Amino acid sequence: MRGLDDSLNDTLRDAVEHHGGKVVLLCSFQKEESVLIDELLRIDNGKTSVRIATIDTGVLFEETMQTWRAFEERFGIAVEVFDASNLDEPWSGPEHCCSQAKVAALERLLSGADAWITGIRREQGPTRAETEPIEDDEKHGLIKYNPLALWTEKDLWRRIHERELPYNPLHDQGYSSIGCASCTLPGTGRDGRWAGTEKTECGLHEHA
Ligand code: SF4
Repeated sequence: MRGLDDSLNDTLRDAVEHHGGKVVLLCSFQKEESVLIDELLRIDNGKTSVRIATIDTGVLFEETMQTWRAFEERFGIAVEVFDASNLDEPWSGPEHCCSQAKVAALERLLSGADAWITGIRREQGPTRAETEPIEDDEKHGLIKYNPLALWTEKDLWRRIHERELPYNPLHDQGYSSIGCASCTLPGTGRDGRWAGTEKTECGLHEHA
């Protein structure tokens, strides 16, 4: 029976074989990207045609910046940066949401791509519970690959420790999900994101 490890590898291979240089991996330097980037590089013997890109809001945690440097060093990649740092004011509660600048950066990041790869997983919460490994992203007119859709936290940590992969040290301080410093607290699942408010997503993975 084919397992989780095979489904990760098969989904990434499908992305590479069908979309080559027209697929982009959205990287937020969390545990999911530790696993995704490592596996992607193994498919192509240490290099990849897949673009790896991030959105820099200018209010990322220092630990996230350290992880960025650790990823570039360990994996030998250059991460493309899409700037959303012109936020007039970062998140300060429901009365001021800066997500729109991040969503605009995503539009620029995806422009010219046929497909994208994300780290979203069903286990992360109700808004992600129906995630499929390969989806039609009608909002952007692209194929969306979610190779970790069926993976759990435990699966990720098994892989990270087995392969001694670099990971964001905030995970060891109780942050299960890591966004911008201005709106992320320690918490399990996505509980630490916009804690105490109704907000659950920044808009990057919302459907049309
Ligand atoms: S994660 Fe928070 S600070 Fe960053 S863009 Fe979204 S709402 Fe703004």
